[in-house]
Amino acid sequence: MAHIEIWYRCPVCNKAYNDQREATRCKNRHPLIEETWAVGKGGKGVRIFDNWHPDSVHGVNGALREADLSDFIEERKLQLAELTKCEQKRTGE
Ligand SMILES: [Zn+2]
Repeated sequence: MAHIEIWYRCPVCNKAYNDQREATRCKNRHPLIEETWAVGKGGKGVRIFDNWHPDSVHGVNGALREADLSDFIEERKLQLAELTKCEQKRTGE
């Protein structure tokens, strides 16, 4: 006659165990996922990926710049104009 079994499935790798402790051990053995984010003044986060060019939006320089820029188009325009002004002053153009 059929019987009922309880299986414990690891939520990370989906492997099933009969033993709850073993399943918990499996879950805890998986490494944490590390993410790098640039966080701006207003709390805006932009993820940084190693395989992006440093000056692109998800490269380290681009993300740091983007994180401080507003998502509101009018405010963003003003911020970009301000950045350009600073850049021109710095380079003397
Ligand atoms: Zn697992």
